[in-house]
Amino acid sequence: MSDYLVKALAYKGFVRAYAVNATETVAEAQRRHDTWNTASAALGRTLVGGLMLGATLKGDDRLTVKIEGDGPAGAIVVDSNGKGEVKGYIKNPHISLPLNEIGKIDVRGAVGTEGMFTVIKDLGLKEPFSGQTPIVSGEIGEDFTYYLAVSEQIPSAVGVSVLVDTDDSIKTAGGFMIQIMPGASDEIIDQIEARLKETARISTLLDEGQTPEEILQNLLATDDVFFLETMPVQFKCDCSKEKFASAIITLGAEQIQELIDQDHGAEAVCAFCNNKYQYSEEDLYALKQEILGE
Ligand SMILES: [Zn+2]
Repeated sequence: MSDYLVKALAYKGFVRAYAVNATETVAEAQRRHDTWNTASAALGRTLVGGLMLGATLKGDDRLTVKIEGDGPAGAIVVDSNGKGEVKGYIKNPHISLPLNEIGKIDVRGAVGTEGMFTVIKDLGLKEPFSGQTPIVSGEIGEDFTYYLAVSEQIPSAVGVSVLVDTDDSIKTAGGFMIQIMPGASDEIIDQIEARLKETARISTLLDEGQTPEEILQNLLATDDVFFLETMPVQFKCDCSKEKFASAIITLGAEQIQELIDQDHGAEAVCAFCNNKYQYSEEDLYALKQEILGE
């Protein structure tokens, strides 16, 4: 079954909710970056959170989530848009830590507990919107929740989880995001909070075969759930040989000549998807001529 995200309203519109099965999306990121289990969970959770945050945007609008903690993982950067496309990387993909005290993957140990959580939204306006909060947990779900509450003033609950198999491949990955709209009663909030406490992780529910719709229906603790939209999601990078060529051009003619003389070519590696692009001496010469206008 391919990955998708569902958007729903509940409690007469006082609650907005999202759930996503992103198993293939995170699996592709794992394969592309060769992440080890702890890094897989850290990057995977951020990809899932990024997908759900991106789903609040209109089609071509996009956003970047950057988690810069003091743990061994280094920075985690995820780009997503309103069309369900996401890409991302983790600075140190080869992180495998012992399980934490409750027997789970130690994402906090990889991310760290000090640092910043940043979201930059490109909404097609002159200036991008940017919000930043300190890392409060390092487990990532709570960091998304805190960011939404403090930076965007939206009381929310965010759950993101990744089930990693013993061979480091991704078994399941997914999440939910529940947002409380202004005017919602305390009873609604109490009801959802109580249900959240007794519900297993999304990756476990997905592993049991539950669909995002079933997961939301249960989490929202009401029959009054109206599904608005189902959107396919996928790992997708928009890099190309041409895009990196424009980056090479910015090096200037002299620098390009040096690449030709010393390296007899160049290779560009996309940080987001790990695709590699080769530039022959002829390619580089053509780029240089472009600069010189010849
Ligand atoms: Zn790429």
